[in-house]
Amino acid sequence: MSRIAILDENRCQPKKCNFLCIEYCPGVRMEEDTIVIDEKSKKPLISEELCNGCGICTNRCPFNAISIINLPEILTGPIHRYGQNKFEIFGLPNITESSVVGILGQNGIGKSTIMRILSGELIPNLGNWEKEEDEWEEVVNHYKGTQLQKYFKDLSNSKIKLIHKPQMVDQLPKFVKGNVGQLLKDVNEVDRLDKVVKDLQLENVLNRDIKNISGGELQRVAIAASVLRNGDFYYFDEPSSWLDVSQRLNIIKVIRSLASEGKAVMVIEHDLATLDAISDYVHVLYGESGAYGVVSQMKGVRVGINAYINGFLKEENVRIRKQSIEFRIHSPIVSNEGKILTQYSNIKKSYEGFSLSVQEGEIYRNEIVTAFGSNGIGKTTFAKIISELEKPDTGKVKKELDIVYKGQYLKHDFNGRVEDFLYTNAPNYGTNIFRSEIAKPLSLEDILDKNLNELSGGELQRVSIAVSLSQEGDLYVFDEPTAFLDVEQRLLVGKIIKKVVENRNAAALIIDHDIVFIDYISDRAMVFYGEPGLKGIATEPTDLETSMNKFLEDLKITFRRDKETKRPRINKLDSYLDRQQKENHQYYYLKD
Ligand code: ADP
Ligand code: SF4
Ligand code: SF4
Repeated sequence: MSRIAILDENRCQPKKCNFLCIEYCPGVRMEEDTIVIDEKSKKPLISEELCNGCGICTNRCPFNAISIINLPEILTGPIHRYGQNKFEIFGLPNITESSVVGILGQNGIGKSTIMRILSGELIPNLGNWEKEEDEWEEVVNHYKGTQLQKYFKDLSNSKIKLIHKPQMVDQLPKFVKGNVGQLLKDVNEVDRLDKVVKDLQLENVLNRDIKNISGGELQRVAIAASVLRNGDFYYFDEPSSWLDVSQRLNIIKVIRSLASEGKAVMVIEHDLATLDAISDYVHVLYGESGAYGVVSQMKGVRVGINAYINGFLKEENVRIRKQSIEFRIHSPIVSNEGKILTQYSNIKKSYEGFSLSVQEGEIYRNEIVTAFGSNGIGKTTFAKIISELEKPDTGKVKKELDIVYKGQYLKHDFNGRVEDFLYTNAPNYGTNIFRSEIAKPLSLEDILDKNLNELSGGELQRVSIAVSLSQEGDLYVFDEPTAFLDVEQRLLVGKIIKKVVENRNAAALIIDHDIVFIDYISDRAMVFYGEPGLKGIATEPTDLETSMNKFLEDLKITFRRDKETKRPRINKLDSYLDRQQKENHQYYYLKD
């Protein structure tokens, strides 16, 4: 069995432990060089030839910096390894013309590495990291007889034009400046500017400066800028973040139209309903985050997502999760008699150009209420009113509540380590409760030493959720807590929020657009409808069946259940099922 040793340099702190791993390694005790001190980094270097996998170093290391991993037998040589005791990746996805290929996998499992290779930024070393120089020729030969041979040949001769929609679109205004309409005109190589602007509903944004538009608008501008360019291979990294459900449907259409024109498209996406609707095929990435990643065979989209949900890849014969993810096929039963946390009367609030009207309702203790609706429809205004951060024009909230509010982005001007940020911003940082309820499940230990300004989107999201949950409150309001989290992290965050709410006899109001996550986490829901940016109307919190029907009826979409996993899947507009479900007013839950 082959074995790899991984050292997490962020965690390893030899000055604090004085190389306990080396002291206790039985190989070293027998005077072998099983672990030595690396001259350059001054950190341990483990010889994978000499290491017998006893695991003593892993147990002795006070900072969990070493992992010794037995690789699955079926794996042959890696495509790339960053170095000794560093991450390695096995296999690459297929690049298929006229198709959208979805990539599904945890964060840290190698998605960016793969894209760096496919874009030509990183020449893969085929596992031989000690080589002086990596060359394309070797890679082209390695893929002889496969479709990737031609791809790499063309790539190395600069014959492939790759278009990339980056993950963290909120960073774009740092690199691109000016008027949105002009920016889109400048990149328009295919003469379909008007259509794309219309399909992505960007008309109202064209006259604005890119530095003044919201996250959801930036996302659509970035997607528009990609599809307007004339490339060979398009790659979209998390195109759904910050978009509401109807905008997600629009981007699915626009991105899929590239494939119908014959282009090869790849999409990384963690919203399973979106990934399902956008992809023709998927590759599942599995392995161990930060240690190694394996690209599965290409699978049909339904089979691939089901395999991911079941946690078992049949063709590869690998289990990627102990349990499958379970879905509820009926709306959860609500029984909250006598546990009211707050009540409010009919509420009205107007700003210049926008008015919100909320139907009276109540929120119970120990429940999670989700709020569905478009962006710009008044969800945040409502949250601010019940937290008394805003005064309503008419109506009132009957009980004053302590509200903890997490906005869409973690706004800060902190320049320093995550640990110091948490120390000053998370009130119960350092307590056992923080450690067990929040830090451990969110894997914060992995990032404590990193600079807050250098975190990835998912890492920043985890810090932001931790800071909110560390505060005492009656009602926790989260605005899109799933953005940038992978599927596993989304479900985990759902569980953590549920647990904290339960332990504190509190409640949570969660604004999110990932239907699979909403299905997993909601006890009840409120629907916000109307005209985005002009007029919002909110229903009382009610059972999930009523609210899903109301919400989806407005959007004119229905969901069916996958026969095998029971996960919700978007029906094709006007398909037989779509028409039948609409007739029966069963937009989401089907009667037995
Ligand atoms: P994903 O995109 O799936 O989140 P990445 O490809 O970014 O995953 O990273 C996979 C692993 O490779 C991570 O543990 C990361 O720290 C490591 N890694 C990425 N780039 C480098 C590099 N240049 N040198 C060493 N390790 C790296
Ligand atoms: Fe040494 Fe055992 Fe650690 Fe290998 S697993 S480096 S043999 S202590
Ligand atoms: Fe110390 Fe762990 Fe680093 Fe070894 S790996 S030097 S035990 S922190």
